[in-house]
Amino acid sequence: MNDNQFDVAVVGAGIVGLAIAYTAAKKGQKVAVFERNPRAVGASVRNFGLVWPIGQPAGKLFDRAMRSREVWLEIAAASGLWLKQNGSLQLAYHDDEMAVLHDFYRGAGASGYRLKLLTPNEVLAYSPAVKTEGLKGALWSETECTVTSRQAIPQIAGFLEKQMGVEFHFGSAVTHVESRVLSDFYDTWQAERIFVCSGAEFETLYPKVFRESGITRCKLQMLRTAAQPGDWNLGASLCAGLTLLHYSSFAHLESLAAVRERYERENPDFNRFGIHVLVSQNRFGEVILGDSHEYGWDVSPFDSEAINGLILNYLETFAHFPDAVIAETWHGVYPKIPGKTELVLEVEPGVWIVNGLSGAGMTMSFGLAEEMAG
Ligand SMILES: Cc1cc2nc3c(=O)[nH]c(=O)nc-3n(C[C@H](O)[C@H](O)[C@H](O)COP(=O)(O)OP(=O)(O)OC[C@H]3O[C@@H](n4cnc5c(N)ncnc54)[C@H](O)[C@@H]3O)c2cc1C
Repeated sequence: MNDNQFDVAVVGAGIVGLAIAYTAAKKGQKVAVFERNPRAVGASVRNFGLVWPIGQPAGKLFDRAMRSREVWLEIAAASGLWLKQNGSLQLAYHDDEMAVLHDFYRGAGASGYRLKLLTPNEVLAYSPAVKTEGLKGALWSETECTVTSRQAIPQIAGFLEKQMGVEFHFGSAVTHVESRVLSDFYDTWQAERIFVCSGAEFETLYPKVFRESGITRCKLQMLRTAAQPGDWNLGASLCAGLTLLHYSSFAHLESLAAVRERYERENPDFNRFGIHVLVSQNRFGEVILGDSHEYGWDVSPFDSEAINGLILNYLETFAHFPDAVIAETWHGVYPKIPGKTELVLEVEPGVWIVNGLSGAGMTMSFGLAEEMAG
């Protein structure tokens, strides 16, 4: 192989591209990653940093999430990146929410979820941030982990480059892929297999395929506090009733209808803007909060204070922190195909699009990459 020849070339240094690069490099393949920006700035650095198996339905998807989790632990151990195995709490403040938690717990059986139903008195041992007034109980799940995505993504790239021999081309926008050859403005490379992991960028490579795939964009608004004082520790990542409506792991439960109807009655804007609230804490002690979900090819570049207000209003019903001042807000965009968990498509021999992991890319990418590698 000459310098411009590879077994695997990856377009995009977000988590999906990095997971494919890691999987191939582990098999001893010669790998190159092309990223149009000087560093990854897409959805993968804008998220909560949550590896969240509890959101995946039992069976193939939960198993994929759990395999991804194992790989995260493996990479954290090998690279030294910060990863906290802090679990999660689904908090219930209404009888209808508690009924969903009971039904989920009862139905979990041997699926691999690691769960415990908690009484209100038990919850504070898992997180000091939980508001106990009106709390009916909670579901503790042991499997969720947190990474500091803004750090973890560049750290994984550095680890792949320095310790696994992956070649990185930052600032290289791939403008053409054909017959196992890819090029940017300056150069051309050849690879046995090419993976296009371009995130929300649908217009440069294979625009017709994207246009016809049914894929759309989803915009999410996010907020974070400054570092909490002292060593204040969130403990488990938190969420409450609205999150039960969001993740497909709960979607089959009949008891969910009552939760949906109540929120629709009490505040239809939650559903209108796709609000559900997750709380994570990064390695710097900052608390990450969000989010909303607005869909379309042309999501607004402008953020809505009203949506941030809805997020914070809901947050107040279940969590509080020593320092609640918001230090930063931003939004991220991820691609999604309604009704599908990913878009994996061989667009020409040896060239694959891997995209559309929607709100679960941090949770699912490593497992999916292994399944694709066979
Ligand atoms: C606000 C928010 C919160 C989220 N929270 C979570 C969470 O806590 N847990 C979870 O599991 N998931 C979460 N997600 C989802 C997760 O972040 C995404 O599924 C995942 O980051 C998608 O990764 P990606 O590699 O496909 O895309 P990206 O991270 O967007 O990466 C794509 C990369 O491709 C590059 N690129 C595009 N075109 C080209 C080209 N032609 N040439 C070279 N480079 C190119 C881009 O510059 C970009 O860096 C969240 C998403 C958002 C937006």
